[in-house]
Amino acid sequence: MDFELNEDQQMIRQMVRDFAEEKVRPGVLKRDEEGRFITELLPGLAELGLLGMASPEQYGGSGLDMVSTAVAIEELARVCASTAVTVAVTNGVCQEPILRFGNDEQKKKFLPPLAKGEHLGGFALTEPGAGSDAAAIKTRAVRQGDHYILDGAKAWITNTHAGKVFVVIAVTDPGKGAKGISGFIVTSDTPGFHFLPEEKKMGLRASVTSGISFEECRVPAENRLGEEGIGLKVALATLEVSRIGIAAQAVGIAQGAFEEAVKHSKVRETFGRPICEHEAVQVMLAESATAIEGARLMTYRAAALKDAKGPGQAQASSMAKLFASEIAKDVCDKAVQIHGAYGYSREYPVERFYRDVRVTTIYEGTSEIQRMVIARSLLKE
Ligand SMILES: Cc1cc2nc3c(=O)[nH]c(=O)nc-3n(C[C@H](O)[C@H](O)[C@H](O)COP(=O)(O)OP(=O)(O)OC[C@H]3O[C@@H](n4cnc5c(N)ncnc54)[C@H](O)[C@@H]3O)c2cc1C
Repeated sequence: MDFELNEDQQMIRQMVRDFAEEKVRPGVLKRDEEGRFITELLPGLAELGLLGMASPEQYGGSGLDMVSTAVAIEELARVCASTAVTVAVTNGVCQEPILRFGNDEQKKKFLPPLAKGEHLGGFALTEPGAGSDAAAIKTRAVRQGDHYILDGAKAWITNTHAGKVFVVIAVTDPGKGAKGISGFIVTSDTPGFHFLPEEKKMGLRASVTSGISFEECRVPAENRLGEEGIGLKVALATLEVSRIGIAAQAVGIAQGAFEEAVKHSKVRETFGRPICEHEAVQVMLAESATAIEGARLMTYRAAALKDAKGPGQAQASSMAKLFASEIAKDVCDKAVQIHGAYGYSREYPVERFYRDVRVTTIYEGTSEIQRMVIARSLLKE
């Protein structure tokens, strides 16, 4: 058992940390305050290969292993969670399923522009009436000759207005329930594809989230992802892997908030000494550091299992996502507490971390759903 990152993984950590410090940090407060998407960071992210981590080199990507990918997402989230989620989504829930379930033609056509960062990608499963219960989606895809006609609406989709390529999950045969659902690759320039207005979010304000409506949207049948009827499998298999990215995001946010808390605790004085010398503050710091370390180990282990194609990866992903997101929420709460009133100010980064972290227990399967997934897999063993 080796608990160290290998040389390549350490280099990636340093490279992404340098980029995050030099390019991402300077505008982070302003972008959040203005709710402005990270457009200006995309060329730099593309240049480092971070928009094509999931795609192999033959498709123009950097073909990183999952541990490196988790490290990269963690480092971005340590500075800016909006940047981390934008990167995680185009890799983990768009390129990854195309790579896994797409045919050669689809990979050749859609992966290179995504991997090079010319297009951003997304994944559209959730609907206004169906989130946790994915099999309850209503968006229809009706076969008409060599096309499918999509009608319906998706909700809460990341990378919409900035993105071009979306993996869309829709019902092809309502009579077959979970087996009547299929996946499609749909580009935003397809007639009948409309982005809805952006959501006004609590956090991740420099990322883009909105609904999508499909009105007689004609998608070529050749864009179907895998066989008809395997759409739910495509969605669930995708999430089993991408949850590692959410765990990494939560670890990064927690680390960022924790570092701010340590810094503040050394300079803020009460009763004649820095607050880090008060035992109650030390307890909060020690508990936070311990929780982050545990979450990081679980996240890297889930990623290593994915790389090793070992058994138990889905369970490990759910456990890492559940644990990391829950402890990250607590670490950010403690970081605000350690800042006192300053933690309540929008001028201090911990206020943003506190808002940004909240969604990590919700998206890509809530904590309640992770517990269900974990319990089911335990009971099956
Ligand atoms: C910022 C943001 C970005 C997102 N990006 C995407 C995206 O790119 N693509 C995409 O498809 N979706 C995306 N989502 C949607 C996200 O995945 C869903 O919000 C999530 O799956 C939960 O679904 P829901 O909001 O409908 O909650 P619901 O399913 O309505 O759940 C509400 C509450 O009930 C609980 N609950 C539900 N069922 C059970 C049960 N059986 N047992 C116990 N408790 C239960 C839930 O845990 C939750 O607490 C995003 C959401 C947000 C906020």
